[in-house]
Amino acid sequence: MPVESFIPLSESKLTIEKSVKEKPKIEELTTIERPGRNPEQEESNNVSKQKTKRKTTKAKAEPKIKSPNRTITLIITEKPQAAMKIAAALGDPRKYSENSVPYYELERNGKQIIVASAVGHLFNLTYIKGQTGWPIFNLEWKPSYTDKHATFTRNYYNLLKKLGTRAKEVLIATDYDVEGEVIGWNVLRFLIGQQDAKRMKYSTLTKPELEHSYENPLSTLDWGQAYAGETRHKIDWLYGINLSRALMSAIKRTGSFKILSIGRVQGPTLKIIVERDREIEKFKSQPYWQVFAQVKDTQLKHPKDVFNKSELEQFKDIKKGTAETTEKNESFMPPHPFDLTTLQREAYAKHKTQPSRTLQIAQSLYLDGLISYPRTSSQKIPKEIEPEKILTKLAKRFNETKLAKRKHPVEGEKSDPAHPSIYPTGDFKNLVDDEENLYLLIVRRFISCFCEDAKGISKRISLIGDNGKNFTANGLTITNNGWMDVYPSIMEERSIPTINGQVNVEKISFEEKETQPPKRYTPASLISLLEKKNLGTKATRSSIVDTLFDRGYLDGKSIEATPLGVHLIESLEKYSPIIIDENLTRDVEDKMEDIQNSKSGWEAKELETIKQVEKLITDISKEFKINELSIGKQILAGVEELREQQKEDSTIMPCPKCNEGNLQIRFSKKTKRYFVGCSNYPKCTAVHSLPPNALIKKTEKKSDRNLPILQALKKGKRPWEFEFNPNWRAENPNYQKENEETKKE
Ligand SMILES: [Zn+2]
Repeated sequence: MPVESFIPLSESKLTIEKSVKEKPKIEELTTIERPGRNPEQEESNNVSKQKTKRKTTKAKAEPKIKSPNRTITLIITEKPQAAMKIAAALGDPRKYSENSVPYYELERNGKQIIVASAVGHLFNLTYIKGQTGWPIFNLEWKPSYTDKHATFTRNYYNLLKKLGTRAKEVLIATDYDVEGEVIGWNVLRFLIGQQDAKRMKYSTLTKPELEHSYENPLSTLDWGQAYAGETRHKIDWLYGINLSRALMSAIKRTGSFKILSIGRVQGPTLKIIVERDREIEKFKSQPYWQVFAQVKDTQLKHPKDVFNKSELEQFKDIKKGTAETTEKNESFMPPHPFDLTTLQREAYAKHKTQPSRTLQIAQSLYLDGLISYPRTSSQKIPKEIEPEKILTKLAKRFNETKLAKRKHPVEGEKSDPAHPSIYPTGDFKNLVDDEENLYLLIVRRFISCFCEDAKGISKRISLIGDNGKNFTANGLTITNNGWMDVYPSIMEERSIPTINGQVNVEKISFEEKETQPPKRYTPASLISLLEKKNLGTKATRSSIVDTLFDRGYLDGKSIEATPLGVHLIESLEKYSPIIIDENLTRDVEDKMEDIQNSKSGWEAKELETIKQVEKLITDISKEFKINELSIGKQILAGVEELREQQKEDSTIMPCPKCNEGNLQIRFSKKTKRYFVGCSNYPKCTAVHSLPPNALIKKTEKKSDRNLPILQALKKGKRPWEFEFNPNWRAENPNYQKENEETKKE
């Protein structure tokens, strides 16, 4: 019997088997055209918009390998921390730094190696200047530092460009996934001026694996990943800019202004949430009854819920029945290893950690060399990771490792061509708080995959009443905990007696219940749903939800759309349903998966997919422009309703200073903290400071003195409540005056 028949396990039944991709052959790769443009070259060439074919740039871009200056092997990573780890794994590096960007030099087998890093994306898509209105389609890769939020990337850009001129050989060692491939490819073509390079593939930042991946690199970039990634960037960019411009121009038509945007995946996701809200709203709860029979102190339940009250009469006169008790041996397999979505779901279920936070922690545990690469769909533990060695290392810290007696670990059905499941490397570091929680969860899950099944005995009493109505009771006794001693399980034991033969039914009872509306999504259940619907990617799903919150479309711990979110979806449903059609977005996802899994023809597929999206956006724009004013009005109504609601949510009490306005919780962009100000500003300048570095929210509670109770929320801390006293300063005249720079925005 599966575990699920006893407890509502949060494991998803979903299994997508991905075929393992074969590496492209050299012959196939030599036909690739050079799709990207070198932005710098273009600037100097006075922006030629013609597509630069490989033939025309080959001579210029190919490194002059014979140049006497080109002596080093250059390894390029995605993040500085990975560069440090790789350098340390390959030899005895010296650390250098240029404009505070670190890089490492070492010698290995007579080769001079430099390990340097990008800092995430060094290039971003932007539109080619001179395109006004919308839709617009002409875009190009530009150095990220040209954007004021990413000026810090300039020094990395410059250093890699400089080191590139000394490189005889380049190895791309960015994270092995779609994003990592794009980061590496862009550095290679735009900064180093090369078509291709060797590729280091690794899943953990541990010495043995890094050495192995350096000694045995792939001979080329993973072009499937590279083109799939570039396609995703371009499509998301086209959607993003055009839909934002569409929404903004609709708002502008009403004579108002508000920055609004919606992404390719965010639109359909928001619609899913609004639809759930509607289901809940129109849900009419219905009464129903559960029927119980009591036999010898044991309650048995009629298996069906009764919706027609008059049917209850049929149970009232049951006085006797025939009982039979059966027993069965059960065994429960350990849960499968963690893929990212399962990890996010479990971390939320066990520790209430938000999915985006889980990904953030997992990323940092990976960079510390403590766990394997977290952005994986795999639920497999391949032999190559040498699990016995990991278990031996873990045994030093984790006693429960001695329970790992299973020869072949339990695995799930999903696989991932790029990485195995998430597993601990066996290295240690002191961790605290939510990092420690997540690390322990990963360690225990991994060990439990090697533990024996839990064993138990299930027991079932069946009773047939003298009028033929049946009742049952189920019990479970665990006889051998197996993996449950390692990984926290919430299986409930229940002991029931053995009852056989003719029995008296001592009592029949009824319990009235009401049907419940569907539940709102939690961040964890929403990302599971997105995975099931194949919307977004494992790496982006948690941030999609965050973005919807940041843009004011969602609210609450269990996710609910704000008035703005609801109005936006309503107007789009009416006037431009394509924007929020999840099938179209899924279709694009499928196309990108196809590019990633292809062995050739990637560029043609990229172009075809982008053309298709351009046509789609053109269609959207025609439909949208006809209804622009109506859409604008409807969204504006949402904006206003949201402002009203926010005003109400932040109003805590009448202002005692002017007796006209209300005191409201506000946020100062300048000091980046919350404060209390008067709605009558600038007439009234009442201002009170609030605890720094916390999100301050109103509660419905009042203190003994009838003053409002506020709540302060800090990341990773328990929320705490405090009384807001507008007269605090007057009552505490000796307390040093806090800085009062908190001015109204
Ligand atoms: Zn006031």
